[in-house]
Amino acid sequence: MMNADTLAKILRHEGRGGFRNTAVVGGLDEFLRRWQAELGPALSAADAPGPPLSYADMSADERQQWASAVLERIAPPPSADAARPPAQPNATPPPPDAPNAPSAPPCGKPNAAEPAKSKPAPSQRKPRKPPAPPEPVSLGDPVERLRAVNGRVKPKLNRLGVHTIEDLIYHFPHRHDDFTNLRKVSELAPGETQTIIAAVWEAREIGGRGRPASTQAVLGDETGNIRVTWFNQGYLAKRLTPGTRLVISGAPKPYRGQMVFQSPEYDFLDGGGAPIHAGGLAPVYPLTEGLVQRTMRNCVREALSRALDQTQDFASDDMLQRNGLPNLQDAISRMHYPESADDMERARRRLAFDELLMLQLTVARRKIEWQSGGGAAKLPADPALMGAFIDSLPFALTGAQRRALDEILTDIDSPTPMSRLLQGDVGSGKTVVAAAALLAAAFNGRQGALMAPTELLSEQHFLTIAKLLSGGAGASKDDVYVSLEMPPHPKRVTLGLLIGSLRRRAKDEMRRRIAEGEVDIIVGTQALIQDGVDIPNLALVVVDEQHRFGVMQRSAIRNKTQPPHMLAMSATPIPRSVRLTMLGDLDLSTIDEMPPGRQPIRTRWIEPKRRANAYATLRKEVSDGRQAFIICPLIEESEAVQARAATEEYERLSSDVFPDLRLGLLHGRMGIDEKEAAMQAFQAGDIDILVATSVVEVGIDVPNATAMLVDGAERFGLAQLHQFRGRVGRGEHPSQCLLLSESGGAAAHERMRILERTMDGFEIAEEDLRIRGAGEYMGTRQSGLNDMKAARMSDRDIMMMARKEAFSLLNADPDLETADNAPLADRLRKYSERNPVEMS
Ligand code: ADP
Ligand code: MG
Repeated sequence: MMNADTLAKILRHEGRGGFRNTAVVGGLDEFLRRWQAELGPALSAADAPGPPLSYADMSADERQQWASAVLERIAPPPSADAARPPAQPNATPPPPDAPNAPSAPPCGKPNAAEPAKSKPAPSQRKPRKPPAPPEPVSLGDPVERLRAVNGRVKPKLNRLGVHTIEDLIYHFPHRHDDFTNLRKVSELAPGETQTIIAAVWEAREIGGRGRPASTQAVLGDETGNIRVTWFNQGYLAKRLTPGTRLVISGAPKPYRGQMVFQSPEYDFLDGGGAPIHAGGLAPVYPLTEGLVQRTMRNCVREALSRALDQTQDFASDDMLQRNGLPNLQDAISRMHYPESADDMERARRRLAFDELLMLQLTVARRKIEWQSGGGAAKLPADPALMGAFIDSLPFALTGAQRRALDEILTDIDSPTPMSRLLQGDVGSGKTVVAAAALLAAAFNGRQGALMAPTELLSEQHFLTIAKLLSGGAGASKDDVYVSLEMPPHPKRVTLGLLIGSLRRRAKDEMRRRIAEGEVDIIVGTQALIQDGVDIPNLALVVVDEQHRFGVMQRSAIRNKTQPPHMLAMSATPIPRSVRLTMLGDLDLSTIDEMPPGRQPIRTRWIEPKRRANAYATLRKEVSDGRQAFIICPLIEESEAVQARAATEEYERLSSDVFPDLRLGLLHGRMGIDEKEAAMQAFQAGDIDILVATSVVEVGIDVPNATAMLVDGAERFGLAQLHQFRGRVGRGEHPSQCLLLSESGGAAAHERMRILERTMDGFEIAEEDLRIRGAGEYMGTRQSGLNDMKAARMSDRDIMMMARKEAFSLLNADPDLETADNAPLADRLRKYSERNPVEMS
């Protein structure tokens, strides 16, 4: 019995043989006559291409054209649109080995035939027996439960931090290859990335014998055929049985007058589900050594198809609608398989919202916790006393300082513990604001503490505050305890310094005084004060130069019975977006105005060949009685390497460049005493030029220092260069900052130009964030960005949305214990486990 299937098989076979009239013993003519008799009526006479008078008389080309046309009628390849399944996986797509439906490979030369218009012939589909359905898996199962994950793949996934099936689902591509450019074979243009859907005509393994085997195949659609070679992938040949339909994506090249694809991306079209390696927007995942993209795609794809439907959306429909976001399963699946860039962006926004919501819930809870731990001491500032203090200062407060002080005084005049960040550029005058707040605590008979990151800064603060509070008299260098008279106030104000370099006895004495309430204002290093000093009446804590925003260690300074008010100060201006994400629990005061009469700092970018001029500039300053800094290039992060390099540079400068000047050295590997000695000598004017590593960054005040040379400036970040620069320009003399940049590409030049242009720390912070990105800006560990895969620092609108939702969720259900919030609580718990730092 003859049918269309048989005819198609024979024509294909003939095609594979090169149309040499060998498919049927004795030639095709006799066969065709019989075929016409039997099958003719089955085909519409009008459409049917008439059988040739004699197949034997036709040229190979004619045979091919004719056969191609016939095949299109009786066994058409599905048209491209119909063939392409949706690019997005369903929540439950068919298992990968679902019934297969091979269709006829078309043959014919390019442009040999019109594209098919006819319908597929369903009668030809012979379903293969489906395999037993896989056992169900759940999100928390280890990845090896998937068929795509074997013993070799598992450790590689683990290395990427992917352990569970859920991890795979959240392993998002870092980009997509755009294979949306779908063409017919006859339309292929050389060199451009294009995608075709074609059937295998023939495929064979070539090479081998010592060399890795390759696969060579001929593929065709209804418009023509094309040669494809996969180098070093001989194993493919066996899988490319004639008739197998493939999606091929790549840039074909002309080769010996014909177009060829070389090692293109490919995908089996009949394998069930959508193509994932070729066609559409193909995900490109972060990989690790030994793991190839195809494997990763298969793993993720299987995870999605078997477990995505189990992910629970913690967001209510209301919440999604309010914020215009898609549901979670859609968003996840489109992160992997978007239909377009817009589609992908919508999905990304949803996932970014999730990440930012977790962050916002964390900070919101931190704030609520901080403020719910019992009432703080109410510290009203007597206006007369505060006024008298402000009048006693040698300068008038700037408007910004007054505003900040007002905000702080209002906060501490309340039993709700203050949680505020005071930010202001270097030299903007934060110390006096802190001193006024500490004084308010003292007026109320309570204790206040000012913590600094280093001993040197602590000592400096001790002296500065003593001076400010005493109307100028202050303390002397060797004092660690002073009792100051505040004229309008009946009580004296006492000030104590607690630092590690105090002798043991002095330290014990200070601890005793503090414990007995004899010290109103305690100044010291963060480490020491946090380390079990008993401050019985502690009501206000000020932390200076607080860079580690995420880790405020509030619990450590928390009094057992009563939480103190808390003020963090930072000279690193914080971009708005960062503040909103990571510091969402802090209120903010900003000093955005410099005290009047500040000497400008002229910043110049110096080319390497002008190094000698830069040295001459420093020498000139020194001969005018000023002092200078030289910051050594950042060799690498290791302090030891840094220290060695700085020492060598110091020696070179001492002997070759400035043999007649007094040079000092400061690096991170020096002991505390050595460091202190160097700084003290510089402060006292016994050193002309201080050669330093980046340790000089933090708040040192040497008004006589007027010049700074940053060597290898291209290696430092913007914010850091700005911090360095803040070490000069603190006195009455105009200052300059020379940025010596050895090399560096466009990005380095951009940074130098920004510094030349502006002294505005906030503008610099925004630029820095823009150039470097969030992770690096905040440092990964403290940023709480461990889990940020979709969110970007530019997502301000999403941040605001998340913030609003977080607060309203917690207002309604502070412990997230209602049934509705169970999935959210679960998600937040997991988030907290992965981001322990944020939770401290
Ligand atoms: P920072 O904000 O960097 O900690 P400081 O508090 O150290 O800045 O202040 C820098 C310098 O400015 C100090 O010498 C301080 O006395 C001085 N200063 C602070 N406020 C004013 C002001 N309103 N007018 C003039 N000088 C001021
Ligand atoms: Mg300061």
